[in-house]
Amino acid sequence: MSPVEREGSLLASFFADREKGSEAVSPVAIVWPCPLAVDAYAAAGRDVGFPRPACPSCAGPLVFWSGYRRYVREAGRCRKIFVPRLRCTRCGASHALLPAFTLAWRLDVAGTVGVVVTEVASGGCGVRPAAERAGVPYTTARGWVRRFRARAAELGVAFAALAVELGGQAVPPPAGAGRFALTAIGAAFAAAAGLPGWRQLGAWRFASAVTGGRLIAANTVSPWFTVGSRRFMPPIPP
Ligand SMILES: [Zn+2]
Repeated sequence: MSPVEREGSLLASFFADREKGSEAVSPVAIVWPCPLAVDAYAAAGRDVGFPRPACPSCAGPLVFWSGYRRYVREAGRCRKIFVPRLRCTRCGASHALLPAFTLAWRLDVAGTVGVVVTEVASGGCGVRPAAERAGVPYTTARGWVRRFRARAAELGVAFAALAVELGGQAVPPPAGAGRFALTAIGAAFAAAAGLPGWRQLGAWRFASAVTGGRLIAANTVSPWFTVGSRRFMPPIPP
């Protein structure tokens, strides 16, 4: 099987699994600041110490309801991970509970996406060498960079605001939206790293957690969770 064919079959099975998953029930995923390595999370299956946040729709209590498995790719390797589904006992909505190393609707881990986007958007190199280093197809990496650039101004403003809210430095917009977004994400993470548990997650799990996995999603619904709200969950120690 050629690399392109393999990518195609991977994505086909990825989305086939998603069809059976919670997205058919609810488009809302909750991303929790999971500190586990991908392998450790995959190996633990249903025994991961999942948090139980309040319902993002109505703040009601959530109960574990079911779950599904999905693929995630890190360093060129695919693993299947368990994603629990929570159901609100008050409003009946169900929500997938994704670990922060994932991004919603993306096969590759947030860290891989972050490295590629950083290299390209900071002007360090083109998409092709960044994709090769990351072990992802060129077209996949190009898609990430396009999405990131399209959202860069919005991301920059939002993460700069989050940095200030977390007690960090104000971020002056540098030349270029892409660099502004990268600088702002870095500043917000630096500020969050002063709070218990966040530092070990790294900037890209942090970015996935606070955007509900929609860092480079095509459509977003109020992606910015602020400190003090129930959705800025503290990480759970492993
Ligand atoms: Zn609810």
